[in-house]
Amino acid sequence: MTAEIIDGRKHAQTLLDSVAADIAAMPQAPGLAVVLVGGDPASAIYVRNKVRTAQTVGLRGETEILPDSVSEAELLAIIATLNARDDIDGILVQLPLPPHINTLRIMAAVDPAKDVDGLHALNAGRLLHGADALIPCTPLGCMKLITSLVPDLTGYHAVVIGASNIVGKPMAALLLDERATVTQTHIHTRDTQFICRGADILVSAVGKPGLVRGDWIKPRAIVIDVGTTRVEKAGGGHDVRGDVAFDEAVKVAGAITPVPGGVGPMTIACLMENTVKAAKARRARR
Ligand code: NAD
Repeated sequence: MTAEIIDGRKHAQTLLDSVAADIAAMPQAPGLAVVLVGGDPASAIYVRNKVRTAQTVGLRGETEILPDSVSEAELLAIIATLNARDDIDGILVQLPLPPHINTLRIMAAVDPAKDVDGLHALNAGRLLHGADALIPCTPLGCMKLITSLVPDLTGYHAVVIGASNIVGKPMAALLLDERATVTQTHIHTRDTQFICRGADILVSAVGKPGLVRGDWIKPRAIVIDVGTTRVEKAGGGHDVRGDVAFDEAVKVAGAITPVPGGVGPMTIACLMENTVKAAKARRARR
C-alpha cells in the first residue's frame, strides 16, 4: 500500500484561480509590498516567486531590496512609509533578517491590518483567541491541505514537530481550533518518535532532512512535510529536501505531501489570499 501524494501545486492553483476571480471583481487591485534584506539566494528566489505570483493573479506586487548593511532604523522607516501608503494593502518582510536587526521589533512595526504574514503579536494573539486574524501563510496552507482530506478533525491526534512563531506555533493553534488534540514537540522533546507514532496527523516543520523516518509514522496517517532544506548536489546546483524520509513514509502513511510541490506552493497562494483579505478589510473600514 502506498500513500496518496497530496498535490500542493494543484490545490494552490485552485486557490489562486479563486483569488484571481476575487481580484478581478474589485474596483482597484490590492497592492503587496515584499521587503528583502540581504543577498541570501534562497530568500531572493522566494521573494521573486511571491511577486511573480502576485502579478499573475492581478495584484500589484512590488519589491523593496535592501543591502545586508541596512540599519534597523532605516528598515523601520521603510516599513513606516509602506504602512502609510494607501495603495499598499499587504506588507511582507522576508525572513530571516540579518543578526543586527531585531526580528520581533520589525514584526511589531508592520501595521497589523497589512500584516499578510500574520506575524504581528496582535494577529498571533487573535489566532490564539480563535478570533478573525491574518494567519501565517504556511500553517494556513497546511490546514487547507489537511481539511481537504479530513474536513472534521474532532477526535484526531495531531502532532506538530517544531515550535517556531512562523510555522509550528500557529500550526498547533489552527489544529486546536479545528478540535484536534494537539501535541507539539521541539528540539528539547524527549522521544519525539514515540509521540509521532500516535499521530493521525503529523506536521513536521524543522529543517532537518530525513528526520522523520518511516517507523515514526502511524499507518494511514496524514503527513505534512513543511521542511525545505537546500542541499548541494554532487554535480553542482542544489536540491530541496523535506524533513520526512519520503521513500519510507510513503509506504506507511495514508497521505503525504512531497517536497517540492507540497506545502511550498500553498504558502504562496495563501499569501495572495491574505493580501486580498487585508485589502477587503481595510476598504470596508474606509
Ligand atoms: P525554525 O528554525 O525557526 O524552527 C525549527 C523548530 O524545529 C524549532 O522549534 C526547533 O525547536 C525544532 N527542532 C529542531 N531540531 C529538532 C529535532 N531534532 N526534533 C524536533 N524538533 C526540532 O524553522 P521554521 O522557520 O519554523 O522552518 C522550519 C522548516 O520549514 C525549515 O526547513 C523552513 O525552510 C521550512 N519552511 C518552509 C516553508 C514553505 O513554504 N514550504 C515556509 C516556512 C518554513
